Amino acid sequence: MHCGWELKHLLRGYEAIVKQVNQHPNKGLNEEVLRVSLQEVGLKSRPECCSIPPPQYYAQIISEMETLGWDKMVHIDMEFQTLKLKAEDSSGRQHMLTVRLKAKHPAEAPECSADLPVPLSVTWTPQSTLEQLYSQFLLVLEYLTEFWDVLDEIDEKTWILEPENPSRSDTMRRIAIGNNLSIKVEVDPRHPKMLPECCLLGAEHAVTPLRNKLNANMHLWNPDSSVLHNLRDVLEIEFPSPATHEKSGFSVECGICYSYRLESAIPDQVCNDPRCGQPFHQACLYEWLRALPTCRQSFSVIFGECPYCSKVTRLHLNTYSQYISAPDCCTQQSLS
Ligand SMILES: [Zn+2]
Ligand SMILES: [Zn+2]
Repeated sequence: MHCGWELKHLLRGYEAIVKQVNQHPNKGLNEEVLRVSLQEVGLKSRPECCSIPPPQYYAQIISEMETLGWDKMVHIDMEFQTLKLKAEDSSGRQHMLTVRLKAKHPAEAPECSADLPVPLSVTWTPQSTLEQLYSQFLLVLEYLTEFWDVLDEIDEKTWILEPENPSRSDTMRRIAIGNNLSIKVEVDPRHPKMLPECCLLGAEHAVTPLRNKLNANMHLWNPDSSVLHNLRDVLEIEFPSPATHEKSGFSVECGICYSYRLESAIPDQVCNDPRCGQPFHQACLYEWLRALPTCRQSFSVIFGECPYCSKVTRLHLNTYSQYISAPDCCTQQSLS
C-alpha cells in the first residue's frame, strides 16, 4: 500500500484490516470498508473515542424500536443517535418527532423536538423507553388537534398573506379581507376557539368600520364555533376564498421597490388617503419618508408625503421596533 508517512504511522498495528480490505472481492465495498476501518482507527487513536456508546446502547435501542415498531421510524443517522419517528393525529395530519439519544441512554433523558406551537416537555426516568416517549407525543398531538383544526379551516377557506408557508408551530395568520385590507389573528394553542388576538391592517378609512364592528360584536363570539365562523359573524364580512377569488388581488406589490416579498416582509403599510391606498413595505416607506426634506416625526410616528399621491401619510414606528432608534434626520423638522 502506497501512502504518506502520516497515514502509515496512523495505520501501524492495523495492517490486518488493510490487508482484509485489499482482498475483498467487491471493490466498491472495499472502499466503504476501508473508510469505516480508517474511521475506527482515527477514533481509537483520539481521546474523545470514550463518547462512543458501549455495545449495550445499540442492543437497547434495537430492542426498544422492536417494541415501538420499525414502521414508525423514518430516519436514523449513521451514529445511531438521532431518530426521526412519524406519527399521525386523529385528523390524519402527519407529524415528526426527532429524538436525540444520549450515550448513556436510557439513564440520561433524550432531547426531543417537534414542529409544535407549544414546548414539548416529556417525562423521562431511567426506566423509560422509546415506546413510552412516543405515547406521550401522541397525547400532545391529541391535545393540539382542535388548534390545528381551527387553523386548517382558515388555511383552506381563506387567502393567507402571512406566513408564506405556515408550519404546524405557527399560531399567527394574516388573512386577506380585501384589497390592501387584512386581519392578523394570533390563535392560542391552549384555547384555540376563544377570541384570538386580532389586528386589522390597512388604510384607516377601511380599517375603522371593521374595528368598530369587532368591538361592538365581540360579545357574540361563540367558543363552540370555529374561529373563522366567529370572525365572519363578528366582522359581518365574507372572507375572499381560493374558491371565489384569485390571490393576485390581495398580494399587491410595494409601490417603492415593486416587489411583494422583501426578505420575509410583505407590503403592510398603506397610504391613508382613501383614493390612493397604495401599499408599501415598512422598510421601503421608512427609507422614503426619512429622505424627504419635509419629513417630520412626532413620538413614534413619521409623517411625509406618499410617493404616489403626494398626500401626507404616516408610518407608525412602534410596529417596526428595529428602526425606533434610527430616525435622527426626521426629528425636529416641520412639515412645510
Ligand atoms: Zn418595498
Ligand atoms: Zn398615497
